[in-house]
Amino acid sequence: MNLESKVMKAIDEGNGILKLAPTWVPRDFLSPGGRLRLDPRDLYALGLERGGIDERWLASTTRADNPGAPEDEGLSYIVIKEDSKVERILLKDAIDAVGEEIIGKHAMRKYGGWTVLTKFFDNSVPIPLHLHQMEEHAHAVGQEPKPEAYYFPPQLNVNEGKFPLSFLGLNPETTREDIKECLRNWNKGDNGILYHSKAYRLKPGTGWLIPAGILHAPGTLVTYEVQKASDVFAMYQSMLEGRPIPWSLLVKNVPKDKWNDLDYIVDMIDWEANTDPYFKKHHYIEPKYVRQPEDMMEEGYMEKWIVYASEDFSAKELTVLPGVEVTIRDRAAYGLIVIQGYGRIGKFKAEAPSMIRYGELTNDEMFVTEEAAKAGVKIVNESSRENLVILKHFGPGNPDMPKTID
Ligand SMILES: [Zn+2]
Repeated sequence: MNLESKVMKAIDEGNGILKLAPTWVPRDFLSPGGRLRLDPRDLYALGLERGGIDERWLASTTRADNPGAPEDEGLSYIVIKEDSKVERILLKDAIDAVGEEIIGKHAMRKYGGWTVLTKFFDNSVPIPLHLHQMEEHAHAVGQEPKPEAYYFPPQLNVNEGKFPLSFLGLNPETTREDIKECLRNWNKGDNGILYHSKAYRLKPGTGWLIPAGILHAPGTLVTYEVQKASDVFAMYQSMLEGRPIPWSLLVKNVPKDKWNDLDYIVDMIDWEANTDPYFKKHHYIEPKYVRQPEDMMEEGYMEKWIVYASEDFSAKELTVLPGVEVTIRDRAAYGLIVIQGYGRIGKFKAEAPSMIRYGELTNDEMFVTEEAAKAGVKIVNESSRENLVILKHFGPGNPDMPKTID
């Protein structure tokens, strides 16, 4: 059987739902917080050289651009069970082959594929202050701009880590000259750029929307990050926790003739957005109920928008109460991850694992095709005591997404 017929068969047999395998990603410049339910013995399963595993990528069709990474690092696999045999097919290959059947005709025509990258990241230290280039500067190196959004799932943040704050944006009075001075001081030690930024206390159950061009240094909460699939960044902080950050990480995605052009590097900052005196008001996200909460509770569930007001992606959190069976409809395809409880999603067993060995399969991750989402997915919470909680990540253009933050 060729790939196309295998995928079509899997879609058929799963009534439009595909099971996915966990996708673990290490980062050699960060250190893992150990809160992703990966067995602690496997945090360095890829070797010390490759770094600790601090990310799990979800419904990903994006390859991780890590030094020394295998070809498929970061890419999600569809799991197909054939009798007792298990076969894996890349979600990316499946979408390349029969994308219209998975994400829908309209999305395929308009965006050409699954253009969102969702992940959990889990670091024991904050990430250095950085930004993702805006359109002009991303295109200059043949890349796409990368807006991103965060949500902090309470289930994964019983331990918030040692620095549950994120530096975001710049103080309103900050000047270009201030930042140029930081850049000139790069090799003298800590360049002091955080003195020009403000840290916000992160609150589980809420999130932030960070468009391209905004400086950010995410803190140590486990973060459900939804972002445009792109891998451009520029680090503006010269030291983190006593360790130097090379200038090369500032100019990795800067045209070569601009590597020492401080004006160009400072221009990559969206000045208006970073120095906005109402930064929090414009970027902090409280969840929004999908419908009237009383009506949903009456039917035994609660659904909230946790990421919204972006052209590029959105996400929901669905809670199904103990013993309840619901059918939930959405007007777009989505990836999903179960973060609490157990039961059934469509035909499949669903459960939030408590410990996963590297390379093992789980029952917590799936992809729902557009057709199945529109028809409605039956979800059963089989616990008599515990909620079943699912996060759902959508690509661009979900017609039901709230368009504004307030
Ligand atoms: Zn970032």
